[in-house]
Parts: sequence; C-alpha cells; structure tokens
Amino acid sequence: MCAQAALAQRQAFIRLRGVTKAYKTGAGEVTVLKGIDLDFGQGEFVAIIGKSGSGKSTLINMLTGIDRPTAGEVWVGDTAVHTLSEGQMAVWRGRNLGIVFQFFQLLPMLSLVENVMLPMDFCNTYPPRRRRERAMHLLGLVDMATHAHKLPSALSGGQQQRVAIARALANDPPVIVADEPTGNLDSKTAEAVFALFQQLTAQGKTLIMVTHDSSLAQRAHRTVLIADGEIVNEYVARALPTLTHQQMLHATRRLQPLHFPPGATIIQEDTHGDQFFIVTAGTANVFLRRPGASDVMVASYGPGQYFGEIEALRGGKWRATIRAAPDTPVDVVALDRATFIALLAESEATREVIERVVESRLAENETSRL
Ligand code: ADP
Ligand code: MG
Repeated sequence: MCAQAALAQRQAFIRLRGVTKAYKTGAGEVTVLKGIDLDFGQGEFVAIIGKSGSGKSTLINMLTGIDRPTAGEVWVGDTAVHTLSEGQMAVWRGRNLGIVFQFFQLLPMLSLVENVMLPMDFCNTYPPRRRRERAMHLLGLVDMATHAHKLPSALSGGQQQRVAIARALANDPPVIVADEPTGNLDSKTAEAVFALFQQLTAQGKTLIMVTHDSSLAQRAHRTVLIADGEIVNEYVARALPTLTHQQMLHATRRLQPLHFPPGATIIQEDTHGDQFFIVTAGTANVFLRRPGASDVMVASYGPGQYFGEIEALRGGKWRATIRAAPDTPVDVVALDRATFIALLAESEATREVIERVVESRLAENETSRL
C-alpha cells in the first residue's frame, strides 16, 4: 500500500474491517456479510445500493450496533463499536448516531416535539429546560414547527420522515445513518429529504444512506454497491455498468491492484500483454508511435476509464504505450484476459459497448498516427 493510502486509511472516520455476519437458520448457517472492508470519511455523503436481500440493512445494523458482527471490527472515530456492552452501546449510539428508518418509527403517543426531545432526555445531553427549545428549533429546520403539538398519526409520510430526521439530529451527532429513508415517500418529498441530507453533509456531518433510488444515489459523494454480502469495486461498477451485480462481483474478486509512480510506463507498444485495466486514481496518458516522427499523445484516462480492451478482444501486441502522467502516480486494477472475455461472453450489452469503444479508438489511432 502506498504511503498516501495508508494515511487515508488511518484517518478514515468510520472503518469496517473484515466484517462478517452469519445467521443460524433452520436450513443451517447463512453468511450474509462476507468480510467487508469499508471506510467512510468525515463529512462524506455515501449512498449504499444493491438488490433486495444483498445485505444493506445488515451492514447498516453493524454500524449502528443494532446487530453485531460474527467476526471483524467496526470503528467509529476512536470507538470500537463491536466491543461495547449493550448499555455502553445505547449511550454511545444516542450521542453519536442519528438513525433514520424507512418507516419513521416515531412514538405514536407522543407529540412531535416530545418525539424530538426523547433522545436528549435519554442521553441527558442538554439541560432539561433547553430541550424543548432545541426540539422546536430542529422542527423548524425541517419545516415542521407549526405542527409541533400534533401526534404523528396526523401527518403525511413525508412529514413524519422530516420529524424523524429532526429527532435524529437531537443530540447533534456527527454521523447520520439512514436505511431507505425515501423508500415510502413520493419523489418530490424524497427530493426534499435528500436536499436536507446534502445540507447536513455540507455542515460536516457524515451521512450514510441506503437507497433503492439510483438517481438519488448518483448525487451522493460516493456510491457503495453491495452484492451478495460483498462490496463491488466501485471502478468496476463505473467502467462496466451493464454487467449484472453478480458479474461485477465476480470481476471484483479477480482484480489485481497495481501502482505506478509519476511518468512510469504501464504498457509498452509492441510488447505482449493480456490484461484489461481500469484506472482508479490519477491520470494515464496514451501515446502512439509515428513513423519518422515523435510519439503523439492521443488520450488521457482518469478514474473509471479503461484500456487494454482492444488487445483483450482482438489479441496481439499492445497497440499503444500508456504512461502515468508526469505529475501524478496512477493506480489501476487489472483483470486477466480470460476473465474479461468470459464476462463479455455472458453480457451481450457489455460486449456491444466495448466493441464500439474498440472501433472508435482504433479509428482515432489511425488518424492520429498520420
Ligand atoms: P437488504 O437490506 O439488502 O435487502 P438484508 O440485510 O435485510 O438485505 O438481508 C440480507 C440477507 O440476510 C437476506 O437474505 C435476509 O433474509 C438475511 N437475514 C437478515 N436478517 C436475518 C436474520 N435475523 N436471520 C436470518 N437471516 C437474516
Ligand atoms: Mg434493507
């Protein structure tokens, strides 16, 4: 690992390491999370996506301590969440996490302002005489102050969710975790909730949101895709979006990470190679040899872009030289040719996209060499 990555990892605010969760069922043990490693930075807005049953809620429950990992570690700041006793957990959670659920879960017998005061009462975080005032202020933030004395049942779903967000903010927690918070809202209300989350991250809060809504997910800082209890490499998902989640996961398991210092040659024209590369950091520059003239730079690829597809598909020697940009290191993940070819054989849509890229890049190269 490079020094920079090591530093980023040390500094990550929330860290999951080798998190595994297995449940015993009538049919035996099922492993729902399979050794998850994941970092979240302070102030980051991360969307967690994946098919129903892929393990999103289970993952969220590891973070909130609502459930415990079978193996592995969950760190939030300096707290080893996986080691807390039930009592310690409840206090820690109350002060450090705001949790928003799909079905709001406001207490039906309490007014809205009382619902929002509850976390402050529970954790004794603000002086008793200030709690009501603070709850009113938070209801104001979500535009619900005028309803403060109503019961939850008098509200629409969107209104209840806004109150649930005000409640999540009661103790001013650094982290908000939301499991499908817009799952029961119409698109306009979902948009309002999303805008509120954006405001919170702009103020430095870390926001982790499970969502089914891919257009909302794309607007978070980062998307984490989970498939079958494992994290899909985000650059595989970006580069090859037409693969199924299972196929992306298959590719993820076979990736070889490679690091190149500034200016280093990644592939050399006219030599043999048989890998497909996806850039994950930095900029890779593409050069072509020209008869009787100096090399010409024809393209630059950044994170999520790929190269090596021409040779993987057509065979033969590299048709270009690719170097890390002179001023930045480049990280790539490499996929062996056999795996790449097998994936394309399984995914007609991906094959078509890649074929089109191959043809347009070959045509460009032809003109650039003149
Ligand atoms: P998601 O939120 O992505 O839809 P979940 O995390 O809720 O998925 O569930 C992932 C898998 O774990 C599912 O197959 C589900 O049936 C299983 N699962 C969740 N909780 C339990 C449990 N308490 N006991 C047994 N299996 C469970
Ligand atoms: Mg779920």
